[in-house]
Amino acid sequence: MLAACNFRKIRGQNDLDAHEYSSTGVSVTAANITIIGTGYVGLVTGAGFAELGHNVTCVDIDQRKIDLLQKGEIPIFEDGLAELVVRNMRAGRLQFQVGQDDLSLANQYFYLCVPTPQGPDGAADLRYLEEAVLSIGPLVPTDAIIVNKSTVPVGSTVFVEQHINRRDVHVVSNPEFLREGSAVQDFMHPDRIVIGGDDQAACVRVESLYLELGANILITDAASAELIKYASNAFLATKLSFINAIAAVCEGVGADVDKVRLGMGYDSRIGLDFLHPGPGWGGSCFPKDTQAMLRIAEDAGYDFELLRSAITSNNDQFERVVNKLRHAVGGDLQGARIGMLGLSFKAGTDDTRMSPALAVAKRLLNEGATVVAYDPVAVVLAEGIEQVMDPYAVFDNADVGIVMTEWPEFKWLDLHKAAALMRGHAIVDTRGVLELGGVAQAGLSLVAVGR
Ligand code: NAD
Repeated sequence: MLAACNFRKIRGQNDLDAHEYSSTGVSVTAANITIIGTGYVGLVTGAGFAELGHNVTCVDIDQRKIDLLQKGEIPIFEDGLAELVVRNMRAGRLQFQVGQDDLSLANQYFYLCVPTPQGPDGAADLRYLEEAVLSIGPLVPTDAIIVNKSTVPVGSTVFVEQHINRRDVHVVSNPEFLREGSAVQDFMHPDRIVIGGDDQAACVRVESLYLELGANILITDAASAELIKYASNAFLATKLSFINAIAAVCEGVGADVDKVRLGMGYDSRIGLDFLHPGPGWGGSCFPKDTQAMLRIAEDAGYDFELLRSAITSNNDQFERVVNKLRHAVGGDLQGARIGMLGLSFKAGTDDTRMSPALAVAKRLLNEGATVVAYDPVAVVLAEGIEQVMDPYAVFDNADVGIVMTEWPEFKWLDLHKAAALMRGHAIVDTRGVLELGGVAQAGLSLVAVGR
């Protein structure tokens, strides 16, 4: 029987027997949770649950990652995560292990947080999910709940159920909405928690894990839960493509996109979030999730032309950025030296998966330019990019500079020093980080997006 759609605000009150630790003083019943896949989502989810008082084991097939974590070292850059991990390890609520052969039979919840990359046809590739499910299927105890947190196409809850092939185990969808760069904050203060499944009792058990957060919780059917994740990312990506298109129009008509987006965004129906123009969207989720959404729609018999246009428009945005650089160096990028500030797909993370910086750098390298890049935390290997450890080194003999990631520290660069090192006189700021006055005072010209 399908669960009724049930949206409620839970304020941390529950009638369960309370014991164990609670970070906010609200009583919780400690559950035993296994996280399968200790990447950005798995590690934050595991550490977050431990902070809420649950006993968590994070599992991964990557020995190097687990070795680091067992020493209290964090393999990714994420604000507040190191403190959370170390504090909960010391308290004995968070542990790490390689592989799932030795799963604790005391655990009741098994969170799947494995990658779901884009497959060759655009749809999500469920290979990792399948491997994980087949490996834990025979091991999990009776009445366990397998919770799917990976972003997966509609029908994946059924896919997992079929692969588990056990009547005594439940499967629930619980998609993740965290943003890299503020992932810990997002776990602790989510806008909403979505739980989907046909088994209402299992959904309520998953809901109980989050009671302390006092969050908006939506319990619904599995297909709706799965689609909510894709629909959300498709909408946000489309909103970004929209404001980038408005930025292009602003450049043509002499308007200032900063004023336009404020004037739009203060309308509560529109909102300011995801209304900031930039170099185009990227990251580990939007590119693959928008493609997967297209496929889901196509399989359902709907041609999602609106979303396809948002994706095309995003690729055009990378081209528009390259055009700005081409123009700044006099029309030909061959032999030009480009100083790039920022490699991660956004500030606050070291993640460079599908980063706009790499999309633009690739185009520049293809046209025969040299790209010298600096990022405060991200490292790229084998991309043909010369990476330097000092932000000023990118300006050394550069024909043009470009800001690709909105790291706050770029705002405070000594632009006189940068200008003295440069061969050219322009900086392209795709993120609106630099002040026009400061750039002009340094004798440089600012090339912005939408102004
Ligand atoms: P990730 O690549 O950072 O981490 C995945 C981890 O799973 C890796 O450490 C990998 O070694 C491990 N793994 C793979 N197969 C395994 C197996 N069989 N057993 C145990 N571990 C295994 O990926 P991520 O960014 O954390 O994303 C995970 C899922 O969450 C994806 O579906 C993604 O779309 C979704 N998601 C990601 C974000 C984000 O911001 N990164 C946000 C929301 C949802």
